[in-house]
Amino acid sequence: MVDDDFMNNSHAHPSAPDEFYMELALAEAKGAAAKGEVPVGAVVVWQQEVIGRGCNRREERQNALCHAEVLAIEAASSRLQSWRLTDCDIYVTLEPCIMCVGAILQARMRRLVFGCLDPKAGAVESLYRLCDDERLNHRLPATGGVMATDCAFLLADFFRRLRHQKNHVQTAERWPSPVEGA
Ligand SMILES: [Zn+2]
Repeated sequence: MVDDDFMNNSHAHPSAPDEFYMELALAEAKGAAAKGEVPVGAVVVWQQEVIGRGCNRREERQNALCHAEVLAIEAASSRLQSWRLTDCDIYVTLEPCIMCVGAILQARMRRLVFGCLDPKAGAVESLYRLCDDERLNHRLPATGGVMATDCAFLLADFFRRLRHQKNHVQTAERWPSPVEGA
C-alpha cells in the first residue's frame, strides 16, 4: 500500500518512503544493542514527521512493557496530546508481539510497517494475524519485509555476541533469535 501523501509532497521520499523511515527505526534498534538490549526499534510518523521514537528498554527499566513500539506510541501520544493516533503510521524493525499489536490497535493507528518476521512471537503474520482480525473493532494494513535483511542481521549479530558471553547465556536463552540458524 502506497500512501498518496508521500507522492504529493516534494519534501518526502517518494522512491522509498518505507525504507527511509525503517532506517530511522533501525537507528533506534542499534542504540538498544549498544546498551545490551535486544535490538528492536520503532518510529511513529505523522504527516511525514517522526513524532515518536522508541527502542527496547526492557532490561534497563526492568519492565516487560518497555518494548520499542510501546515507547514510540507513548512519545507520539505525548506529542499530539492524544491517545488517538489515527493518522499515524508505525515502523518497527521486528514483527510486533501480541502486546504491541494490541497497543497499535488501541491507538487506532493507520498503518504498520515492519522489518523481519518473529516466528516465535509475531502477532501480525507468524503466530496471529491481529491486524486484520474481523472480530476486533479496529484493523489496519500491515506491510512486512521492509529492509528485513538489515533488521534480522542486527538481531542475529546481537545474539551471536551474547552467546559468546557466558554470563549472559541465560538471557540469550530467554530471547532466542527470531532468525533461523542465528
Ligand atoms: Zn512487543
